[in-house]
Amino acid sequence: MAREFDLISRYFHDIGPDRGTVRVDIGDDAAVIDVADTTDLAMTMDVLIAGVHFPQHTTPARIAHKALAVNLSDLAAMGATPAWFTLGLSLPDADEQWVGAFARSLAVVAGQYGIRLVGGDMTRGPLSVCINACGTLPSGGAVQRNGAKPGDRVLVSGSIGGAALGLDSYLGKIDLGEDEQQAVRDRLDRPEPRCALGCGLQGLATAAIDVSDGLGQDLTHLLTASGVGASIELARLPLHPAYRSRLPTLGYEPAIGFGDDYELLITAPTGALDGLFALAGQCEVTLTDIGVIESQPLLRLLDDSGTRWNGSTAGHDHFRDRS
Ligand code: ADP
Ligand code: MG
Repeated sequence: MAREFDLISRYFHDIGPDRGTVRVDIGDDAAVIDVADTTDLAMTMDVLIAGVHFPQHTTPARIAHKALAVNLSDLAAMGATPAWFTLGLSLPDADEQWVGAFARSLAVVAGQYGIRLVGGDMTRGPLSVCINACGTLPSGGAVQRNGAKPGDRVLVSGSIGGAALGLDSYLGKIDLGEDEQQAVRDRLDRPEPRCALGCGLQGLATAAIDVSDGLGQDLTHLLTASGVGASIELARLPLHPAYRSRLPTLGYEPAIGFGDDYELLITAPTGALDGLFALAGQCEVTLTDIGVIESQPLLRLLDDSGTRWNGSTAGHDHFRDRS
């Protein structure tokens, strides 16, 4: 079966006239359109299906949080300020209690990040949520995936690996204390999109992407788009505390291959690092330097002894992972 990205580039990459307004086309975290003299519009969409993106019986509050947060994370990765979204909802039945709880949670996240629901569509069918989110940018100010340069440092916000443990916990594959269990399930269901950090990246970062499909895969997208490689020191990864304490049994693979942490991966020249760390401090989010961009187009993951780590960096692919 064809891979997700092969299908997109084979069939969808050139449909309709360009209209001279598309600054960033298919292939980044969001499209960017030149809509006015001083303003660009960033647009992104994510579909979440019950039983695929969240377990069937996830609470409506958690589904709403995740559905909006993953879109906000793509806006953050472009440096866009959240503005408006539309909501496509497919529901098996008109359960008002379910819809009420979903809407209340959606309102909390939308209020927190300053994004307005302005339309959508509702239909009867298997449970799924589709959100199309838009944000604004100063003209030409998008932070794309393709600007990383040799010598740039690679940084990651927040922590990695918590969401992987969250799924393991739901699947009963890992034994955790009550607090840790809650924390990692929250990492999976209630991501905290790094919007404030994203909005400050213009002029500091050379490239950015959010970690949705796995750090290895998402970093590879950024490297490919930029035509460069990188060396990453695994020992520097800001692993979630619950993950860090189990590193000897877990190894690095879930942290590299599983996604859903919705942190930002950022590249920046060394001269911009002070500014970036100051920005992260203002946004109350940690930022960790995990490696360096190199000209040879290859992702090298180095283990604690500095030798090449041979684990899988595959990450998530909807079509491959079905087969
Ligand atoms: P992300 O993980 O950042 O949300 P994806 O991996 O889902 O991005 O998608 C990669 C790129 O392909 C994005 O630019 C997205 O807009 C585009 N894309 C995904 N599905 C389609 C589709 N069916 N038609 C056109 N573009 C698509
Ligand atoms: Mg993304």
